[in-house]
Parts: sequence; structure tokens; C-alpha cells
Amino acid sequence: MFIGHFGVAFGAKRAVPAVSLGTLFVACQLADLVWPVLVIAGVERVGVQPGLTVVTPLDFIYYPFSHSLVAAASWALAFAALYTVLRGARTRTGILLAAVVASHWVLDALTHRPDLPLTPRAGSTRVGLGLWDSLPGTLAVEVLLFAGGLWLYARATRAIDRTGRVALWALVAFLLAVYAANLFGPPPPSGMAAAWSALAMWLLVAWGYWVDRHRTPVRL
Ligand SMILES: [Zn+2]
Repeated sequence: MFIGHFGVAFGAKRAVPAVSLGTLFVACQLADLVWPVLVIAGVERVGVQPGLTVVTPLDFIYYPFSHSLVAAASWALAFAALYTVLRGARTRTGILLAAVVASHWVLDALTHRPDLPLTPRAGSTRVGLGLWDSLPGTLAVEVLLFAGGLWLYARATRAIDRTGRVALWALVAFLLAVYAANLFGPPPPSGMAAAWSALAMWLLVAWGYWVDRHRTPVRL
């Protein structure tokens, strides 16, 4: 899943207006921000096998620290605790941030084939409902999540200058272009190449902070 995760972040802004969109991007994609770093470091492993699923050729061979259920719960707790302590935020904000982090695993479990381990232990049960075997099904879920979240964000905030408008819609266009390239472009030459390009996710986090600085929450 790609743009669906961002849909969750956009939508969450309405519930926690004081939290920057950039922080919400980190939360919704924490697993996929950590994952390429661990692959490049040789800790986790990914391969490429064209035809493995209809939507993606990536073969997630080993990724228990970024993508097991236990890891997801731990990342969620750690991220929420850190944010709450550092920013002096309310418990409600922390709980919502934890839910956004955890939503990554839930949405991945919907789309991945059964490759998501429950625990980091070797031989752990792997789960995944395999929505990636259907292109129309994947598109329907991701586009609906993305459009719904974006609609909430656009209504819950307003641009305070031209950048607040232009940077948001440029971000949306960029996300859709990357998504289309992932879906319909050629497979990456190797797992390592996929991990290196996935590092660009960090750029999207910076873009989220930039957009959010030029928009302000509105009372609904
Ligand atoms: Zn993921």
C-alpha cells in the first residue's frame, strides 16, 4: 500500500489539528521509513520476482523489525510516547498518533500476500489478505482512502498563502505520479535498488512539514 497510508495521515489532521502533516506522514509511514534503512544495512531482506502479485513484484523475504505485528505495536507506542513527552501533548493526541502508526500494519495486512510476520521470531506465522492480487480492488481501496483523507485535510485546514495551496496540490500530483509509476512502470532491477528508491519517502515527510507550515487549521 502506498497512497492509502497517506490518506490516513491527511484524514488524521482533522482529529489532531495541532500536529503537523509532516509528523502524521512519519506516523503513517514509520514502517516504510525504517524498512529501506534496514534493507540497505543488511538487516532485512527483499527480492524482486515479477508476477509475484498483480500489483507489486517485491518479495518481502525478511522484515520483522519494520513489519511484524509486534514491531508495529512497539513503534506505535514508542512514537506516541516520544511525541507526547517532547511536545507536551495531551494523551488523546498520543493515542491518535499510536493509532496512525498501527494503521500501517493493518492496511499492509490487507494488501500484502501472507508475508507479514506476527513476531520477530524465526518461523513466526505470516499473515496477509492478498488484496494485491487484484488491481481494481487495490486501486479502489487506496484511491478511496487517499481521496477521503485528502478531502478531510483540505476542509480542516486553509492555505495562509499561495504556497499553502500550490505545495499541497503539487504534493498530491507527485504522490499520484509515483503511485502510477509503481503500479504500471517496470519492476525495480533488484531489492536493493527498490530500497534505495524507497528512501525518497523521507523527502515526502519534509514536503508534508512544508505544506503544513503554510496552512492553518480552521474551526469546523
Ligand atoms: Zn509497509
